Amino acid sequence: MSHHPSLLRVAASALLTSAALVSLSPRAQAQAQANDSAYTAKIKEYLQDPRISTELVDHLPASATVPTPLKFLGKIVGTPGELTYSKDINRYFDALAKSSPRVKVWRMGKSEEGRDMIVAAIADEATLASLDKYKGYLKQLTDPRKTSEAEARAVIKTAKPIYWLTSGMHSPETGGPEMLMELAYRLAVEETPFIQGIRNNVITFITPVLEVDGREKVVDTYYFNKKRATGEARLPVMYWGKYVQHDNNRDGMGQFLALTKETTRTFLEWTPTVLHDLHEAQSYLYSSTGTGPYNEQLDPITINEWWVMAQNDVMEMTKRGVPGVFTYGFYDGWVPNYMFFVAHAHNSIGRFYEVQSYGPDNNPNLTLPATTTSREWFRPNPPLPSIKWGPRNNTNIQQSGILISLKQMGDNREMFLENYWLKNKRSIDKGKNGPTYGWVIPASQTRKANTAEAINDLRRQGLEIHTATSAFKAGGMDVKAGDYIVRADQPYRTLADMYFSLQNYPVANPAPYDDTGWTFQLMRNLVITPCTDKALLGQQMAMVTGDVKATGGIAGTGPVIVVDNTADNNLATFRFKNAAVKMQAAEEEFDAAGHHFRAGAFIIANGDHAKLDAQLKDLGLSAWALQVAPSVKSHDLDLPRIGYIHSWSRTQDEGWVRAAFDTYGIPYTYFADQKLRDGNLRAKYDVIIFPHVGGTAASMVAGTPKTGTVALPYRKTDATPNLGFMDQSDDIRGGMGIEGLMNLYKFVEEGGTLITEGATSTIL
Ligand SMILES: [Zn+2]
Repeated sequence: MSHHPSLLRVAASALLTSAALVSLSPRAQAQAQANDSAYTAKIKEYLQDPRISTELVDHLPASATVPTPLKFLGKIVGTPGELTYSKDINRYFDALAKSSPRVKVWRMGKSEEGRDMIVAAIADEATLASLDKYKGYLKQLTDPRKTSEAEARAVIKTAKPIYWLTSGMHSPETGGPEMLMELAYRLAVEETPFIQGIRNNVITFITPVLEVDGREKVVDTYYFNKKRATGEARLPVMYWGKYVQHDNNRDGMGQFLALTKETTRTFLEWTPTVLHDLHEAQSYLYSSTGTGPYNEQLDPITINEWWVMAQNDVMEMTKRGVPGVFTYGFYDGWVPNYMFFVAHAHNSIGRFYEVQSYGPDNNPNLTLPATTTSREWFRPNPPLPSIKWGPRNNTNIQQSGILISLKQMGDNREMFLENYWLKNKRSIDKGKNGPTYGWVIPASQTRKANTAEAINDLRRQGLEIHTATSAFKAGGMDVKAGDYIVRADQPYRTLADMYFSLQNYPVANPAPYDDTGWTFQLMRNLVITPCTDKALLGQQMAMVTGDVKATGGIAGTGPVIVVDNTADNNLATFRFKNAAVKMQAAEEEFDAAGHHFRAGAFIIANGDHAKLDAQLKDLGLSAWALQVAPSVKSHDLDLPRIGYIHSWSRTQDEGWVRAAFDTYGIPYTYFADQKLRDGNLRAKYDVIIFPHVGGTAASMVAGTPKTGTVALPYRKTDATPNLGFMDQSDDIRGGMGIEGLMNLYKFVEEGGTLITEGATSTIL
């Protein structure tokens, strides 16, 4: 930074000089803390442009006891041409916890492939020793039904916000997980008033890698490609997690992926004040606020907080002369499907950074289009038309931004905690004052098994749900005993508001960043009715405290068992679970055993009563036993042999279909489009599913281009131990080709059923 010494740096060096002169008080000693000279020299060496630095990150303090990333991994964070595996990042955090009383690390959960996601907590020693006490304070502020205003005022004075940093969800965005190692070290070791201010007032949580499976694949792929000869085809990052790639951050409402479930569970356990997720898709640093329209169910305080925090980032970085830090001009803030909306749905603050890519290779000439380098009200000090970029630039800019955010949180600790308390209180008051006092979900509605699944899904996201203990009328509704009630006078009613309300996307706004509509009950075809009668809140009800099941099983006796068609997803589970049992499907509705059956009911002539009864109870499906089979037109409910095609050119989306199959126990044979060339499809499959690939019909048929002279394998090897999952190929180049396409055509001609989805429909 010698070319651009900022006032701050001048001031800092003046302090250092005077500290060296007196060097008696502990404070002076603290300021004279020595730097790790080797590490600090490397920071300077790897930084590609001196403007992308601040006094916060241009050095690393030395420690006699706590290992730096250089000491532990043999390289500093921001070393060009190097990436660190998630397992080694976790090992580094474990080493920090072992050597510093200011760091604790625990396992948050496991990925689909069995790898560990971790949480590291960093604060001053005394705070960390009583972490549960601080957890309790935040819980008190979460529930104004149990905490009085006076108690809350007292708690706000002593509580500390938890600021949870997460990264590595988007696997090819590689910088966050690297940078967080250095940040953790700095927060644990550095003795400047700035860092002490953070450590003493904020509990920093760090989850360096959320998509741990994808991280290992990205690192394998990077080093694999590095060894490839010039001109040979490069391996794309094939698969991240087991199911999806980039849309793993859009699972906030679906809550299917392990990373989403574990984030939600951990969030509900600790109620962090902020959830801050790190990404790499803007230049040079975007601090989130979004352009709006904002989600209508957010407490307006949250939107103010986004702006206060983002503007502080922009201002503080601008003060330090760092170009390209901005807010507003990316993303909107409308749809609550993003992972960081886990925070918003629970009255905390969700935010994210988009940083210029880590690389990890240096880019000697990063040039940007004029649309991103113009000076705007939201971008007062814009990115430069061209610059030398590299992983250390990425490390410096995002670590500085985060330190500034953490300092702001520490300096305004009481304000943010008061806001949090207030948001929870206003949530409850909203329920007391109406017009919506709650939501009623009939337990015995048509899709009762799906209803039970929905109740469990909502409860796992922290929503309190009750059941009516006796029948009553409220708001013109006949509520039966056992029906579910979501009281609106609970702190997390925000989640109910977000999920159950109808969306009216303001048409005057630009095209949305993502979906515009997501109403929970419409997506799941369930009856969930808002209640505008305050009498609802005074009714007898009991809290649901565990997973629920719909009532199910076989009524009556007789050799014929008829399972009603309730359109519940579990019907598929039941059928495939009993593959050896002959079943018929009714083609029309009919009456029998005093029950009206819908078309599609399963008729089982000679089932094992006890075995099927137990299964139906478990799945929440109802059946009736009859003496004789009903006289209704029916056909065999035979089980298809399912083939499931994926493409080697893109594995971003197809996994969502697998997700549904795996959830409901539907078996399938998974194979690559290249295998279509082998033909003979009809002999093997009755149904072939070809989920969305993307691209054009021509590109889907052609597959990954056959460039280069040697094969491009996707395999588990000693050098790439994390590849080869979900499928393997000796050469991923070339798709199904015309040959494969003709085999698909033949399959359909021979009576096979081909189901396409999205882009794959254009092939036919
Ligand atoms: Zn991203």
